[in-house]
Amino acid sequence: MNEGSTETASCELLHEVSSCPLCGSTERDSHSISSANLYSEKLAALAGVEEADLIKALPNAECRSCGLIYKNRWFPRPLLEALFRDSVPLHPKGWDARSNRFTPDNFFAELERYKAALQRNDVEQTARWRRALLSIIDSIPALENYPDRLAIESAIELGDCAAVCSRKALIREAMDEPAPFKRFAGFRSREMWDWCLERSGKVAAYAELGCPLWGMLPIAGSRVERAAFLSRPEPNYWGSSCRMDGRPCTAALGSVTGVEQKDWNGVKPGEFDLIGLFQYLDHLENPLAFMEELFLRARSCALILDDFSQPTAIQHFTGWTLKAIQWLAKHFGKRIDDEFEPIRASGNRLYLLC
Ligand SMILES: [Zn+2]
Repeated sequence: MNEGSTETASCELLHEVSSCPLCGSTERDSHSISSANLYSEKLAALAGVEEADLIKALPNAECRSCGLIYKNRWFPRPLLEALFRDSVPLHPKGWDARSNRFTPDNFFAELERYKAALQRNDVEQTARWRRALLSIIDSIPALENYPDRLAIESAIELGDCAAVCSRKALIREAMDEPAPFKRFAGFRSREMWDWCLERSGKVAAYAELGCPLWGMLPIAGSRVERAAFLSRPEPNYWGSSCRMDGRPCTAALGSVTGVEQKDWNGVKPGEFDLIGLFQYLDHLENPLAFMEELFLRARSCALILDDFSQPTAIQHFTGWTLKAIQWLAKHFGKRIDDEFEPIRASGNRLYLLC
């Protein structure tokens, strides 16, 4: 095993992960160190350690046998539960897919909040609004490959709000529909739905689990015999604390025609034809056991994960290379179709396992 020196003294609460959570092999190589983000900031605060030390203590390893990327150490369950109950109770990308944040007026209102946070030297709020502004710019298709985009991003990074304001007309004109598959559109795509059905064969019953706000259920509800959101408690994912104005995220499904809600554990064998699993599998500590449960309940799975070329984020226990997806498909006797191109520009990959 080839691992650099890591800071462990201050991160004693982490437990060691000695073997691959997919194939069980102990052979692995160093892969990457996660980048700082909202979750590294919150997890470090909960653990009572410096953020940089926490990131160093959780390096990503790559399994030599199946190609899965996974953390060498991981968090205890109560800490993960506290993260999603208290620190980040709302799934930001889920609510953003249902929000009105992607408008020029809101962009400049958030710029004012960023400016105010900078003036008060409020480190946490400064980081929050900086991320918020960058995510809006990232979702403007018209700015892609446009030189001013880099100038705007760098002005946001540097806190130069005047330089951002000087491009007000350009930003207003460029903001139209948010880029598909990014933050403000989520995974609600008619094109992806049609592709999945064309490639996976007859789908009479479709289900999703994970986030109820950002997937294809609003499309499925009126197009298949049964469409369902499946609730499954998971410590490393948003749950009952994900509420807006007191209403849980699952209540948003109440206004979606034709979608029922059901407990994961109450699903009968073979009850569904296709299950959509979007940015969920990489949160789980035992992905293999979960996929066994999934393929008992459904014939096929539409799996969306981060592109494996990105360093696995701190809140993701695993990262999935094509080799790992192939191992998974072979294990369950499924074939892989990963030819859905439109999603790739967003940094996601879709794998249809049939
Ligand atoms: Zn492995």
